[in-house]
Amino acid sequence: MIKRYDVIVIGAGPAGLFSALSIKNKNILLLEKNSAPGKKLLISGAGQCNFTNNCSIDEFLKKYGNKGSFLKPALYNFTNKDSIEFFKQFGVDYNIREDNKVFPKSYKAIDILNVLLDKCIENKVEIKYKSIINDIEFDKDNESFNIKTPDILYICKYLIIATGGKSYPQTGSTGDGYIFAKKLGHSIVTLVPALTPVKVEDYKFEELSGISLKNVTITQWKNNKKINNFNGDILFTHKNISGPVIINNSRYIEVGDVLKLNFTDFNNIEDFKKYFEDKIVSSGKLRIKTIIKDLNIPKRLIDIILKLSNVDQDKTCSELNKNGRKKLMEYLSSFPLKVRALGNFNIAMVTKGGVSTKEINSKSMESKIIKNLYFAGEVIDIDGDTGGFNIQAAFSMGKLAGDNINSKLISFDCYK
Ligand SMILES: Cc1cc2nc3c(=O)[nH]c(=O)nc-3n(C[C@H](O)[C@H](O)[C@H](O)COP(=O)(O)OP(=O)(O)OC[C@H]3O[C@@H](n4cnc5c(N)ncnc54)[C@H](O)[C@@H]3O)c2cc1C
Repeated sequence: MIKRYDVIVIGAGPAGLFSALSIKNKNILLLEKNSAPGKKLLISGAGQCNFTNNCSIDEFLKKYGNKGSFLKPALYNFTNKDSIEFFKQFGVDYNIREDNKVFPKSYKAIDILNVLLDKCIENKVEIKYKSIINDIEFDKDNESFNIKTPDILYICKYLIIATGGKSYPQTGSTGDGYIFAKKLGHSIVTLVPALTPVKVEDYKFEELSGISLKNVTITQWKNNKKINNFNGDILFTHKNISGPVIINNSRYIEVGDVLKLNFTDFNNIEDFKKYFEDKIVSSGKLRIKTIIKDLNIPKRLIDIILKLSNVDQDKTCSELNKNGRKKLMEYLSSFPLKVRALGNFNIAMVTKGGVSTKEINSKSMESKIIKNLYFAGEVIDIDGDTGGFNIQAAFSMGKLAGDNINSKLISFDCYK
């Protein structure tokens, strides 16, 4: 059987749904391989859906590594404020947290998904679930796309590939879009799991599982050379270090790197060492545990550091030998952790890499290789920090693709 549409969108995630609801007055088919839409959206933000961020657009663009400039037209065309207004207009009020993360007021991802679905239904988008696509071909003679499924051959003028990345494959994002894109002549930038916890050698902090520390400065070392430093909140888990600063910077971290954690409030390690040495010298009869208390570090972490430094906290400062003092200062201000592995695609929140941005027009999301072929969302080589930046990017790219098709359809003789 053959079925014809003006537009076919593949993938009912935030990018695909947003593009489908944005296209006006045309017959649109949305193909989704799961039996329901937005599986990943529903688990986003632990089911609460941090759908955008309230920071300025300039700040926004800095959250995508060196891909901010590619996203600029999409994010200006449909901004974070537009997202907030869009959902509010359709009955989903929002909550902006202190850290600028924006959630639906109900803290329920389903509310966001329901608006997207309702708008698609209103827009008469036909949605076909459990669709298995065997092959996609571009028919040069007819300037159309043939999408082959076991029972139906779909033909369309405009095709949007919004199949997501490769992470959390149980949500349906298994990387099919890369195969389709490659088949249609696109290059795929190497796929790497991103926004993932970091596994380190000889992890000593199991007992601290669940404890988070605010504003920790981390320096990154490669072959004994300092190459980077980050600052933010870390979370100890029972096997790894995690938390926003680790997850957001995991895209820059490689196996073999050493991360040095500064648990003190001192930005400058030399300043800390000077402060600590002076304190030890001037507090001769005070116990070590008394002066360490002033450092504002959780007691359970201090206990581990003292144990690893071989220092008895009940001894007085004057009894602390040179070796103990040196180790203690090092562990408090630059605790070294050697990176053993990064989380794999099963636990990475997003995929770094994907359809090369060099082959996509950033002002329209249209392929530079095949006319009327579009990409939107995580299938493209774009990944953002945590904080609502990935879902917003998916909405904005989906909207831009849809808007561009709207602007073009007038001049095409489309299928009815
Ligand atoms: C645990 C977790 C929490 C997250 N939390 C947040 C958060 O709070 N805020 C944030 O901004 N980002 C978050 N993200 C990232 C965000 O969810 C994704 O970046 C976003 O969903 C990408 O949208 P997308 O539409 O491009 O792809 P996806 O959401 O992956 O949707 C792609 C869709 O395409 C379908 N599909 C794939 N292949 C085919 C095929 N061959 N045929 C038909 N359909 C197909 C899939 O089944 C899926 O439904 C989180 C990610 C994870 C894993």
